[in-house]
Amino acid sequence: MTDILNKFENIKTRYAEIMKEELKLFDDKAEDRILELRNKILSAKSKYKCVKCGACCKLAATPNSPDDLKNLADKGDKFAQEFTKYFKLYEDFDTIKDLYPDYFDTVDVTNEKLYFYHCDLVTDANLCPNYDDRPQICKDFPENPIDILPISCGFKGWQEEVLEDILRLKAITEILNLEKESE
Ligand code: SF4
Ligand code: SF4
Repeated sequence: MTDILNKFENIKTRYAEIMKEELKLFDDKAEDRILELRNKILSAKSKYKCVKCGACCKLAATPNSPDDLKNLADKGDKFAQEFTKYFKLYEDFDTIKDLYPDYFDTVDVTNEKLYFYHCDLVTDANLCPNYDDRPQICKDFPENPIDILPISCGFKGWQEEVLEDILRLKAITEILNLEKESE
């Protein structure tokens, strides 16, 4: 563990500080700590609500191309199966950038290859015509606070509230990986 701690000794970012704090708490308690953070992050979500802006129906970004999603769906991935059933690829990147400029303020498209999709079912009033029977992926959204969230999303506050805990989870995962590498 001291070897790992040394790697972060001279790094001054907040993330490096978190790594050091987590390393000190670490020992054999990693699993308990992961569970505790995960529960804290998930329970914080209940304070926030969907404000029915329709943004997640009109624009969903993922690093997965249509072929990637089809392969995943063929292998039985439930998320990919539902996603490919409802979401279609936007072909023209410039058009969607003009339509949803706010969204692109939050997404760094220069660093990551992303594909953008939309669901045709959403109404002009931003509602799902089959809300009670909407797909599970729509019911769950956002399933994870590290999802890319539109600015108008009612769960944006959840993402901001749990940011520090997400960094803690990331730090613990990195510590576990470093430990494995040093074995
Ligand atoms: S199925 Fe309904 S909730 Fe899901 S993306 Fe389409 S319109 Fe939105
Ligand atoms: S982007 Fe967020 S607030 Fe808007 S419809 Fe989707 S879940 Fe609801």
